[in-house]
Amino acid sequence: MDPIAAISTGNTLSAIGILRVSGDGCFAVCGQVFRAANGKAFQDLPPREMVLGTLLDQEGRAIDQVLAVRFPGPRSYTGEDCAEFHCHGSPVVLSEGLSALAAAGARPAGRGEFTKRAFLNGNLDLTQAEAVIDLIESETAAAARNAVEQLGGSLREKIQGIYESILNVASQFYAVVDYPDEDIEDIQREDILRTFLEAERSLQELLATFDRGKILRQGVPAAILGKPNVGKSSLLNALLGYERAIVTDIPGTTRDTVEEKAVAGGVLLRLIDTAGIRDTGDAVEQLGVERSREAMRRAELLLVVVDGSAPVTEEDRDILLQAAKMGKPWIYVESKRDLSPPCAISVGTVGPGTAPGAAVSVSSVTGEGLDELEKAVAALFPAGDVPPGQILTNARQADAVARALEALRGAREALESGLTPDAALTGAEGAVNALGELTGRTLREDLTARIFERFCVGK
Ligand code: GDP
Repeated sequence: MDPIAAISTGNTLSAIGILRVSGDGCFAVCGQVFRAANGKAFQDLPPREMVLGTLLDQEGRAIDQVLAVRFPGPRSYTGEDCAEFHCHGSPVVLSEGLSALAAAGARPAGRGEFTKRAFLNGNLDLTQAEAVIDLIESETAAAARNAVEQLGGSLREKIQGIYESILNVASQFYAVVDYPDEDIEDIQREDILRTFLEAERSLQELLATFDRGKILRQGVPAAILGKPNVGKSSLLNALLGYERAIVTDIPGTTRDTVEEKAVAGGVLLRLIDTAGIRDTGDAVEQLGVERSREAMRRAELLLVVVDGSAPVTEEDRDILLQAAKMGKPWIYVESKRDLSPPCAISVGTVGPGTAPGAAVSVSSVTGEGLDELEKAVAALFPAGDVPPGQILTNARQADAVARALEALRGAREALESGLTPDAALTGAEGAVNALGELTGRTLREDLTARIFERFCVGK
């Protein structure tokens, strides 16, 4: 494929910035912009070793002192001839370097083009390619762990195993379809059924990981509820570790909702600070109330804050009741622990509805109790026992698994009800195709294009 080049590191000042080149004629392009300190020609540089030299512009002027690495294909990221220049991390240097590469014949790469080539050349399957972007974008250690295992091929191998077991069985069907006079043996039928059932169970288990996958990728929308002035914004800030919402002493100042991401107990929370859920005459405030109600509906975790330094009021009880009625996991958070000792919170007095997952007493000023809150969050969203790497993290993957499962179920039911083998064969083929789409064996150009659009340039 034609040579492409990109800046693979971020557009900020940093110690090191990397230019990456890949494609046919890559080394000839690089030879025009790099002069090795040891005097060797670029194509003669030892593979996969860093070599000191000068990065040159079109007129042969020095742009930077760099380290160059030559990766002859197929032992490279993309599978084709590749090279990297490790420059000083100045956006100016990098952009000059990219211009020099362009002048030498390497077109600027599109989003994800390097990884797309790695996929097209068979170095990665689609689950691994998606893991690359998931790893780059991961916001918690758990999300990164899943992505790196997926990059290593753990999801691919799992899918592969299921794919092959169905394919084996389907091939037996072809024999039966081709020789219709020979009846399908009963024992064979049982073997096939067992294989289908096992594959169904594996696919079901895989599909069940998607809930956890969504938490890993997108986080848990969590609403912070409570009457004005109980310390909602302060709690948000304490969890974020910096000032975001404006904290004041005037009740009702958090008029809008703000959403911020924070990691608590290893779980990514998308925290929504709400204005309150009490009906009010003030039109602007009423808008905020509406948004809070919406946030409460959207949330998958509710943090209900009650001021621990003041008596519990009717309004507190009302909010606690509303939260309990939502049927969602929620945590009773008693605030301002530094001002008064924690009360013995009697969660049983909340009334009908779901009991809180935990009751904690915190101080957003001293940070006391925040670790207990984090533990409570972790306990509500446990990691489970699915090994990292075998958790489905995106809708495309889940959709393909769901379709494979449905097709396989159809095949099994056809077989059980004594239908002709070709009816079951159609189902088995459907399952194999859906799994092929998941790993990219069955290539769909539109789908592949969409996947790589998610990437950044240079990856
Ligand atoms: P919101 O209206 O529920 O968002 O409440 P704020 O976060 O704006 O807090 C209201 C007032 O309580 C502010 O003066 C905060 O400084 C104070 N406050 C909030 N949390 C704590 C806490 O843990 N300890 C103490 N001492 N004051 C707090």
